[in-house]
Amino acid sequence: MKISNTYINGVFCDEETGKNFELINPATESNYASLICSNEEQVNNAISIALSNEDVAAGLKVVERIEILNQILNGLNDRSLELANAITLEMGAPIKLTTSAHIQMGADHLQNTIKTLQDYSFEEDLDEYQLVKVPIGLVALITPWNWPLNQTLTKISSAIAAGCPIVMKPSEYSALSSRILIEIIDKSSLPKGCFNCVNGIGSEIGPLISSHPDIKMISFTGSTLAGVNIQELAATSVKRVSLELGGKSAHIICSGVDLEIAIPNAIDQCFINSGQSCSAPTRLLISKEDINEVRRISSEYATSIITGNPKNESTNLGPVINFKQYESIQKYIKSGIEDGYEIITGGLGKPDNCINGYYIKPTIFLNVDNSSLIAQEEIFGPVLSIISYLDIDDAVKIANDSIYGLSSYITCLDDGEGKIIAKRLKAGQTIVNKKGRGSAPAPFGGFKKSGNGREHGQFGLEEYLEVKAVI
Ligand code: NAD
Repeated sequence: MKISNTYINGVFCDEETGKNFELINPATESNYASLICSNEEQVNNAISIALSNEDVAAGLKVVERIEILNQILNGLNDRSLELANAITLEMGAPIKLTTSAHIQMGADHLQNTIKTLQDYSFEEDLDEYQLVKVPIGLVALITPWNWPLNQTLTKISSAIAAGCPIVMKPSEYSALSSRILIEIIDKSSLPKGCFNCVNGIGSEIGPLISSHPDIKMISFTGSTLAGVNIQELAATSVKRVSLELGGKSAHIICSGVDLEIAIPNAIDQCFINSGQSCSAPTRLLISKEDINEVRRISSEYATSIITGNPKNESTNLGPVINFKQYESIQKYIKSGIEDGYEIITGGLGKPDNCINGYYIKPTIFLNVDNSSLIAQEEIFGPVLSIISYLDIDDAVKIANDSIYGLSSYITCLDDGEGKIIAKRLKAGQTIVNKKGRGSAPAPFGGFKKSGNGREHGQFGLEEYLEVKAVI
């Protein structure tokens, strides 16, 4: 099967370009389709069509923008099962996760952006001047594969809400779900040419976008390495670059909490989506006196994790995205072993029941030193480092000792105490005493090398606006 995601001015360009990207099912290692990569001419066409639609997008009334977002939301709901199956096939996330959280996060962004737009004032009269917020113009959206609907729809909904024409470049690994999403947008009343898409290998197509002088802003979610490359290439045209990058988030478990509940929750939060979440709490900080209890509870809980075929309803851990990532995670596990850390569960190689596919044994290291490689680098797999602290001041110091600052988590007896600790953490979000995901309307983005942008709700919308003063 051949797939193309080159979509320009309302038309899919399905013809061969001479360059394909082979799509491999991570659960079986078999080839299921070929992505026809966009060529340079198509990238330039998509940009020039979007540029010629800057006034069209900006001219859409707020009620029209809301109507378009509602149509996309309805399309998402209508095709949710198809999308969930596509995501399970392309990235190996368990079907019970793709039919729930993966779809829900996309829907949440559309709903939140609609609500934001209903309440938002693009003009404000102040004492000495008028504040007018206008669309920044042509935006490029570059997204990863790990939560494909979450990352594309938070950007698409905010850009449409702001009145910006779009060129999207989704991940080559999420080509199937991207195709369905483009078809959903195609059916909406968004004027043709206001949404365009190109697809292909990031390091080849990405630089054509990053360096293009007509693009006013790039919103990028992905690795810190690619983010730096984008910012460097974008510098000469002085375009706005909003970066959502990697993370190594800490989860502080305070003394006195019920560890029988807190530790399984913390493990789930780290391992969801096979640990392939930028905000995953991969450093679990526990009080030194709780070590023996934590060892016992985590080793007992690990036996309940079912790794295997993501199409099975009972599976809660699928494979990781590709062989390169499988190898990289193995190297990190090896490094933890060589550093001498105790392994509570997991280790090198594949689980016994998984011969084919890029499966990792969910791995938990105990008594890890925060300065070690496995505690400092983003592994992007189901690997948890448990680190002990002496007191809360020590826990805060360890949590902040990272080049990243995306998310942080606190489990404590009292929400008020948690909020006080939260203010001391250098991260864009702190989730206090909440199981599962953060909150959809709350701003999301990183400190330090985790990025410089904010997405979702009002902060997400304002990323795509220029502020103008009329005096
Ligand atoms: P990636 O950086 O390899 O790719 C992301 C996107 O950028 C893809 O579309 C890719 O094709 C493209 N790309 C790659 N190189 C490029 C370049 N030089 N120029 C322009 N585009 C380029 O990341 P990935 O493997 O797809 O995703 C995993 C990474 O994303 C992890 O580091 C994770 O932490 C990060 N992430 C961050 C957030 C966040 O909100 N902060 C959310 C999800 C994922």
